[in-house]
Amino acid sequence: MTFKDLKIIEPILKALDEKGYQNPTAIQREAIPHVLTGRDLLGLAQTGTGKTAAFAIPILQLLNEDKRPSQKRQIRSLILTPTRELAIQIHECFRQYGSYMGLRSCVIFGGVKQKAQTDELKQGVDILIATPGRLLDLMSQGFISLDSITHFVLDEADRMLDMGFIHDIKRILPKLPVERQTLFFSATMPQAITALSQRILRHPVRVETTPVSSTVDTISQYLYYVEKAEKKNLLVNLLRKEKDQAVLVFSKTKHGADKLARVLNKAGIGSEAIHGNKSQNARQNALANFKSGKTRVLIATDIAARGIDIHSLEVVINYDLPDVAETYVHRIGRTGRAGNKGVALSFCSQEEYRLLNDIQKLTGKKLNTMAVPA
Ligand code: AMP
Repeated sequence: MTFKDLKIIEPILKALDEKGYQNPTAIQREAIPHVLTGRDLLGLAQTGTGKTAAFAIPILQLLNEDKRPSQKRQIRSLILTPTRELAIQIHECFRQYGSYMGLRSCVIFGGVKQKAQTDELKQGVDILIATPGRLLDLMSQGFISLDSITHFVLDEADRMLDMGFIHDIKRILPKLPVERQTLFFSATMPQAITALSQRILRHPVRVETTPVSSTVDTISQYLYYVEKAEKKNLLVNLLRKEKDQAVLVFSKTKHGADKLARVLNKAGIGSEAIHGNKSQNARQNALANFKSGKTRVLIATDIAARGIDIHSLEVVINYDLPDVAETYVHRIGRTGRAGNKGVALSFCSQEEYRLLNDIQKLTGKKLNTMAVPA
């Protein structure tokens, strides 16, 4: 399934394409169609699943379609999130996915002077991303009215509770119009969160990302901290050590996959690359060669790897970490099937620390760090 199948409008598709997002993640596939019809949503999802886009994309689309005549821009969407970092990230998502639309978004959080934030608010915004304390503060000073809100998102509700924001939220809720669409996200559902969700949602659709950690228990996962320029050497070294194993290597880009295949073949390690630019025939041949053991190493992009079903796969290498943590689980799930033991090695450069963090959060596991062999 593609974003187009989800009936996303052209300006957003263009922005997604530029970001290199080819397909929606599970939570996006499930949530977006419901949000577009105006339903309330209860989303059980952790960071790393693509949940931000699961609400940002349909909200942008709905705001774009809402052609109420208005003299002045008024805040129509409010996204409440517990931390400044999350607020900034969410704002960035709205800006990027909406870069071909005329909507304005603004982010406010505490710990900094309010002047820059109030100046922006005065110019009029459509979408406001806020942490609870600063929101209440600016509301009480008259800089913000929530009267025109049509979409309200409560992000990371369980963390809000942990951080003691529940009273702030209870003060904000009565200021919101009763007629509105509410999207509620939480990674876990303790009693207090269930109660809160029941209070503020109306006939919500519940979407849940499948729990992922159980699938990885038979797989030993290791991590190499390695600079980008050194990844090639590390790969060659590791493959030379493990002489007979069938190895599936994941590369982020098609071009990167081709380049790697050339490097490995030059080093005497039989390998082939499969990706979307290769013909169906070429892909099938490469796959058959890999399955029969003729080529030891297959280098694949995520999309090309989707159809691969290899039973005796022993090792998966994440040469590049995936952008979405969920993809990590899918990738390594190709080894260690049916109770067999599997090994997953991941290369992480400095630029990828954030991605690693997302993966560890999603799986709830800290990867074992290995020393890079000299
Ligand atoms: P989130 O769970 O919203 O924090 O998103 C995790 C990461 O996945 C972020 O770096 C997003 O930019 C990225 N992401 C979200 N949706 C997609 C997608 N459909 N394809 C590729 N990357 C995505």
